[in-house]
Parts: sequence; C-alpha cells; structure tokens
Amino acid sequence: MILTGIRANNDLTIGNYFGAILPMIDMATNRSDEYQINLFVPDLHSFTTPVDHNQLLGQIKHNLRIFIAAGLPLDKPDIHIYRQSYIPAHSEMTWILDCFTGFGELGRMTQFKEKARKVASKGLSIDEAKITVEDSPQQFGEYHSSVGLFNYPVLMAADILLYGATYVPVGDDQSQHLEFTRDIGERINTKFGSNLVVVPKSVKEQHQFFGNDQGLRIKDLQDPTKKMSKSDEIGKGVIFLGDNPETAHKKVMSATTDSLGYVRLDWENQPGISNLLQILALTTGKPIDLVELEWKGNSSYGEFKTAVAEEIRGFLETLHAKMAQVDDSALQLKLESSESAMNYVANQTLLKVQKAVGLR
Ligand code: ATP
Ligand code: MG
Repeated sequence: MILTGIRANNDLTIGNYFGAILPMIDMATNRSDEYQINLFVPDLHSFTTPVDHNQLLGQIKHNLRIFIAAGLPLDKPDIHIYRQSYIPAHSEMTWILDCFTGFGELGRMTQFKEKARKVASKGLSIDEAKITVEDSPQQFGEYHSSVGLFNYPVLMAADILLYGATYVPVGDDQSQHLEFTRDIGERINTKFGSNLVVVPKSVKEQHQFFGNDQGLRIKDLQDPTKKMSKSDEIGKGVIFLGDNPETAHKKVMSATTDSLGYVRLDWENQPGISNLLQILALTTGKPIDLVELEWKGNSSYGEFKTAVAEEIRGFLETLHAKMAQVDDSALQLKLESSESAMNYVANQTLLKVQKAVGLR
C-alpha cells in the first residue's frame, strides 16, 4: 500500500500544489486499482514548530478542501482520507517505538537540526542561532525547540508501520526519516519476531517506484535562490493557495528578476526569470520549453511579469471557486468512514506490538 500526507502547519503554497498535491492526486487516481492509498492529514505533526492554535482546525479543513478542489476523488473505496489524530494508535505506537529509539539516532536528524535552528533564529540570522536548551521551566517559549520536534521522526515511523505501508513518496528532506523507519522496523522485528511489522521499501526503491522526476522546486519570488516554503515568516515571495488573487498578482509583479533584460531559461544566471517561466508553464499546463520559446528574448520584464501575474490570479480564482463548491458533508462522511476503517487496521497492528512487548 501507498501512504502520503502534508503537514498542516500553515496555508499551502503553489509549490506544494504543483510539487506535491497534483502528483499525489495523480498517483492516487492512477494506482488505486492496484494499491490501497492512504492520504492523511498529519495534524499531530502540525505543531512541532509554533503555529497559531486558533487557526489550526480551520487550516486542516482548508487543506482538505484544497485536495478535493485539486481533483482528489471522494468516491473511491481504496483511497482512504483521514486525520491522524482521529486514530489514537499513532500516539500509542509512537511511545512504544520511542523506547526502542536511540537518543543519538534522533539527534543526528538533519531536519531536526535545521528546524530547531529556525525556531531559535527568530530575530537572528540562521547562522547565528544556536539550538538552545532552556534552563528553567518558565523559559520554554517560541525560541525553544520542543521534544515533539526532536521526536517527530518516531511519530512518522508509527504513521507508516501501523498500516504496513511499503511505498511512501519522500523528498530529500524526509529520506533520512524513511531510513530511520526501516531501521526501527527491522530492529523490533529482530527483537520480537520477523513478522511483527512490515518494513517500507528503501529510498532508492521509492524513487524507482514513483519516478525520479520529483525534483520540481518552485522558488521564492523575493529570493529565487531558495525554494518557496509554507513556513516562510514574511511570505512576500510566497504565493499561498488562500491568498487573495489580487495580492498574489502584486506579489508576482514585485518578484525579484535581474538586470540582463532578456527572458530566457537560465537557472544559474537568471533564477528569478526562470522561476517565473516555470510558474507560467505550470499554470498554463504547457511544457516549459514551449513557454520559453514564446517569451525568449523579450526585453520587457513588465510585460512578462504581467502575463505570469494574470495566470496566477486566474489560477487562484478558479481554485477558490472550486473550493467553494466542495461538498463539506460528503467530505465529512468520507473522513468518518476512512477513520473508522483505519482505526481498525491501526489497532490490529498496535495490538500485535503490545503483545510482543508484553503489554497484552
Ligand atoms: P515547511 O516550510 O513547513 O517545511 P514546505 O512548503 O517546505 O513547508 P513541506 O511540508 O516540507 O512543505 O513539504 C510538503 C510537500 O511539498 C513535499 O512533497 C515537498 O516536496 C513539496 N514542496 C514543498 N515546497 C515545494 C516547492 N517550493 N516546490 C515544489 N514542491 C514543494
Ligand atoms: Mg519543507
């Protein structure tokens, strides 16, 4: 079976849309005859880094509506759509796996180091920030990394092992966690019997299965040398899917370009222009080579940006119209039926593990 999810820590971006949601839906609709597909909202993962808790519940609903508006079908019995926290076995399994996980093993996770530095960096440059440890309970605040951030790869392992998922599409940033999931799965299988849990395929096999072209990266409009990210603090260079279409239009118009005055696909020397060409290709559905051909040599960046900005505005208007049409009660019914089915599956695995460790 195949399992995938996107953290709901903030509104999603056009990067998430074209880089993850569309391929995910494509995969779900094309493979659901062969494979069971689990598409879940990892809501427990949402606040490993600080979020606005008043917004979280709304954010989860918003993200689910985006998936549906982007084409995720609600009527396929082999596609399960569920919220992680509605299946308590995830948390219980995490605790058990925690007790077989090395402290140093988690400390080596590069995502932890990066995210912890980002949390600590509020007001500082990332390079200056040190991963800080609070001295007293009163000190824990938004500049301190939580145990949850440290521990989340174990929750991720539970997300995968509970369902015996073999295929999990992972980007570079999550490969290390997938390898960890395999390590801990093999570790408990060795200790308690080889059939206790199903170990997911290696990163290499994942890439073979899903194809190697997972490298799409839309860049930040303000700083086209870094990728667009939903957790970006300022958001000036990020097109969020919930953005007002006019605001998004303005963001494109103020995108960073260069002084060469020549539209051309050249990521090295013209990352801003290349990024806009890529966005234009994705929003119009044309191959990037064709889009480049249409614009190549044009010396009016204003004209070019206006074309991109209008596409983005139209893209968001269409998406919002589709989101408004999402049938919330059908979505709710789908969630409830998937959550009931997945509670059953997850509880079976959990029981096996509880028996193995001597709790049942
Ligand atoms: P965060 O800042 O919280 O890490 P993110 O925007 O990087 O947010 P992730 O939750 O890390 O998003 O990743 C979700 C999915 O979106 C992954 O499959 C990732 O490959 C994809 N993705 C993220 N950013 C981009 C981007 N700029 N272009 C294309 N795909 C992206
Ligand atoms: Mg990320």
